[in-house]
Amino acid sequence: GTAQIGVTGLAVMGRNLARNLARHGFTVALHNRSVERTRSLMTDHGTEGTFVPSESMADFVASLERPRAVIVMVKAGGPTDAVIDELVPLLEPGDIVVDCGNAHYADTRRREEALREHGLHFVGTGVSGGEEGALHGPSIMPGGSDESYAKLGPIFESIAAQVDDVPCCIHIGPDGAGHFVKMVHNGIEYADMQLIAEAYDLLRAGLSAGPAEIAEIFRGWNSGELESFLIEITADVLAHTDATTGKPFVDIVLDQAEQKGTGRWTVQSALDLGIPITGIAEATFARSLSGHADQRKLAARTFAGTGNDSWMVTDRDAFIEDVRKALLASKIVAYAQGFDHIRAGSQEYGWDIDLGGVSTIWRGGCIIRARFLDRIREAYDEQPDLATLMAAPYFAKAILDGVPSWRRVVADSARAGIPTPAFSSSLAYFDGLRRNRLPAALIQGLRDNFGAHTYRRVDREGSFHTLWAGDRSETGGAESAS
Ligand code: NDP
Repeated sequence: GTAQIGVTGLAVMGRNLARNLARHGFTVALHNRSVERTRSLMTDHGTEGTFVPSESMADFVASLERPRAVIVMVKAGGPTDAVIDELVPLLEPGDIVVDCGNAHYADTRRREEALREHGLHFVGTGVSGGEEGALHGPSIMPGGSDESYAKLGPIFESIAAQVDDVPCCIHIGPDGAGHFVKMVHNGIEYADMQLIAEAYDLLRAGLSAGPAEIAEIFRGWNSGELESFLIEITADVLAHTDATTGKPFVDIVLDQAEQKGTGRWTVQSALDLGIPITGIAEATFARSLSGHADQRKLAARTFAGTGNDSWMVTDRDAFIEDVRKALLASKIVAYAQGFDHIRAGSQEYGWDIDLGGVSTIWRGGCIIRARFLDRIREAYDEQPDLATLMAAPYFAKAILDGVPSWRRVVADSARAGIPTPAFSSSLAYFDGLRRNRLPAALIQGLRDNFGAHTYRRVDREGSFHTLWAGDRSETGGAESAS
């Protein structure tokens, strides 16, 4: 065979990825379960580059040069396993199977192990940027072996988004590392969007402003520290008018947010690893809450008038600036938590992920692309073992500068009865980290009281237990342990 790389699964994502590869000069083998998709790709775009279409999986595999590299871009879950099962008997040791679908990293670890036994490389790869990204340059997060990256790296780096001539693709780490990082990327995307939504809600209520007016505020923000794809499209969506009713578009959309599940995966994994990604968790739960229509209807009736609907700010410009600073500070928290999560996953699975590198490849192609990510790379360049991103000079300064605004915004929203779960939980996280003494001491006391779970003391080594039901004397300590 002569094709340098193959793509099986030619729905929107696979089709655009194949076109992107061909446009960059690679000879691309094509395959799809139902042949119509392969044929229509050839009819519509066959002249964009060199494609080698096949109708059977065997012909597809035979059309590839060795070692073969096959991108699988099918529905995640069972379909991915079905395609892998069909591929494996046709491949030879040294060949590479690349799953660019949205797989759970645990599935990727399982598949990598299984294929390794056949001498095959399995590369779970996160691809972000939707169908536009796939065609014009996504952010690419490949896992898998170093050997597989030696072949795939040059290909992926040439089709990825480029920022300052740096490709938005690095080898993330072995087995499931790529899909893990893609998962956390999506979690951060949830938090980013929830924070933006809360800022919009506050501005709308506080200023008693229409969506078009708020669109202008976001447009202004997009030329500062908050500059990002999501802020840019927020201005776009808020400024849009519904053609049939003439109303602001945002007012005719049903207010129940949906999810495909990557936010949930992120939170589940963070719970397992013991990493408080409160921003992502609140964002995920806020979407769930929005979907509970019957509870919302009942609560709205039962508790009507308990907020302060007539709340309006007096100093318009000061309030806008407060919200902007609260948004930036909360966003820093969400990213700090997300990167903590990646570091914890990297330690748990021995992936050795370069955190600065991750922030670099999110600067382009993906949904959370933002100016801000340069600062994350700088922070990790200066101090690779930084305990929390919040303490890096640039972020610490932004937070210190924003704290009074952050507190005012959260207090205002509580008084007005406007839910800001992401703003307020990020502030609580910040206060939790910076507080000298936490009431966790009381929790330990309670646990020792009802369950003899023991506690440590501030003044002596060892673990202790108080005889709560007896004479309340204390037992334990380093002396008795030794
Ligand atoms: P879909 O997720 O809609 O999947 C459709 C493709 O899967 C078709 O090619 C279909 O073949 C194939 N397929 C489904 N079941 C089987 C099966 N049992 N055996 C063989 N092939 C099967 O396509 P998308 O292009 O939207 O997404 C592809 C992958 O990329 C998914 O994993 C998705 O999560 C991920 N992804 C999607 C993004 C997006 O924005 N859409 C962004 C990033 C990742 P057939 O034509 O024969 O039905």
